[in-house]
Amino acid sequence: MEKMQNEKMYINGEWLNAASGRTYDVTNPATEEVIAKVPLGGVEDIEKAIDAAREAFDNGPWPRMSPGERAEVILKLARMVEESKSEFSRLETLNTGKPAKQVADYDIGATIDNLKFFAGASRVETGISANEYIADGTSILRREPVGVVGVIVPWNYPLMMVGWRAIPPLLMGNTVVLKPASITPLTAIKLTRMIDSIGIPKGAFNLVTGPGGTVGEALARSQKVDMIAFTGSTDVGTRISSQASSTVKKLSLELGGKAPFIVFDDADIDAATEGAVVGSLMNTGQDCGAATRFYVQEKVYDKFVKLLKEKLTRVRVGDPTDMRTDMGPLVSRDQFNKVKSYIEVAQKEGQVLLSGEPRSKKGYFLSPTLAAVDDDNARIVQEEIFGPVLSVLKFSTYDEAIRRANNVIYGLASSVWTKDVRTAMMASRDLRFGTVWVNDHAPIPSEMPWSPIKRSGFGASTSIFSLEEFTNPKHVYVDLTGKVRKSWYYQIYGDQ
Ligand code: NAP
Repeated sequence: MEKMQNEKMYINGEWLNAASGRTYDVTNPATEEVIAKVPLGGVEDIEKAIDAAREAFDNGPWPRMSPGERAEVILKLARMVEESKSEFSRLETLNTGKPAKQVADYDIGATIDNLKFFAGASRVETGISANEYIADGTSILRREPVGVVGVIVPWNYPLMMVGWRAIPPLLMGNTVVLKPASITPLTAIKLTRMIDSIGIPKGAFNLVTGPGGTVGEALARSQKVDMIAFTGSTDVGTRISSQASSTVKKLSLELGGKAPFIVFDDADIDAATEGAVVGSLMNTGQDCGAATRFYVQEKVYDKFVKLLKEKLTRVRVGDPTDMRTDMGPLVSRDQFNKVKSYIEVAQKEGQVLLSGEPRSKKGYFLSPTLAAVDDDNARIVQEEIFGPVLSVLKFSTYDEAIRRANNVIYGLASSVWTKDVRTAMMASRDLRFGTVWVNDHAPIPSEMPWSPIKRSGFGASTSIFSLEEFTNPKHVYVDLTGKVRKSWYYQIYGDQ
């Protein structure tokens, strides 16, 4: 067993216990052992952090530094994460059960790239050029930070989500109060230690651990917070948006998903089934963009299902620290029970071709489930399961595939598999999802937006759109005439 860690929160540049003195246990989902004790923050703690961020925004140096100076801080952070890549990877695996090979190359590797991209891109603000849009004056666009940003992130990509949601607001001159998911706070705390060691001004970045229902809600409701950047479930996102509305806060919501994966008759079925396994099982299916609804055209349906089943059976479920493991456990007992209950639903709603089984007495392991379903409205086709449970459905025509794929409340990601350019281009236009992959399922370059629609939310993580979200455009108009009475003042003073 690893040495037990006793963690603290970071508020106004200080490492603190919860005001109540209470802590809670963080466990390793592969072994169910307690690996850390973390402060159980409450309303008093989050209010303290909000006050610190407010003061740092209103009077501190961070918002007043140049973009280049802030970018240098984040580049330094990226280099530190890179130097500690193996420690971050080990910790993420320990806390989430993610396979070591995924964590090193994806979770941590991609986060380093995200940080470097954000730092560079934040130095070039986009907008409308200054001009005399009214002949008598020059109009100038400024982009200004929004203020204090509350950042609430989920457990499925603990470090990456901090990179996506807390770093862009910081770079754009906002101050931040971060609340990580209760069950996976460890890499966020480690990153915060680095942020502290770089010497970020007091109060510009704060981290409070504790239950979403207490500290998260207080953050969303606070009058002193200007914006909430939330990534998590659609249910909690809906609740946060109603709480935030009482103070008319700006919001960025990255919520749930239920991605379709459409396979046309002309697709390379070997490639499609390879992509299907990876697209659905990455992170044990606990991925908002995971492929979950497989719409397969009738001529290739049988071949696709047979190959997919074979490949799913070969996936090695087991010890996430072993580099040969393909799929680790689910993140928690709750998630394990939830996914198991959906396997029972699948048995009622379709023909289960492969049924998920627990692997051992300890740990939340479940092998993949594949179910053939006819009804698009089946719960396993419509609801976000967030685990390795796949449904496969047959279709005949292009129009039918698109209509059925779009028939879901979510709009985060989708993929289409075909060799025909016209089909690919039409589907890219017709699918109502923020991302459409063609002949692949999952890549998200830092430069491109991860941008949901429908009940998957609104806003963008990654890309320059994410940086822009954390700014407000301000118009400055400068009179060029120097006249006491401008040409348009006749509207009040006398006649034209
Ligand atoms: P969740 O239950 O919605 O929790 C997300 C965060 O919200 C956690 O930090 C949680 O704190 C906090 N929270 C819970 N109740 C709250 C409340 N009443 N007020 C304020 N904050 C509250 O989601 P999850 O189970 O951690 O993560 C899985 C979900 O995230 C899935 O739906 C997935 O699709 C979504 N996700 C979306 C994206 C995207 O980019 N669109 C990316 C990753 C994940 P506690 O941990 O203390 O409960």
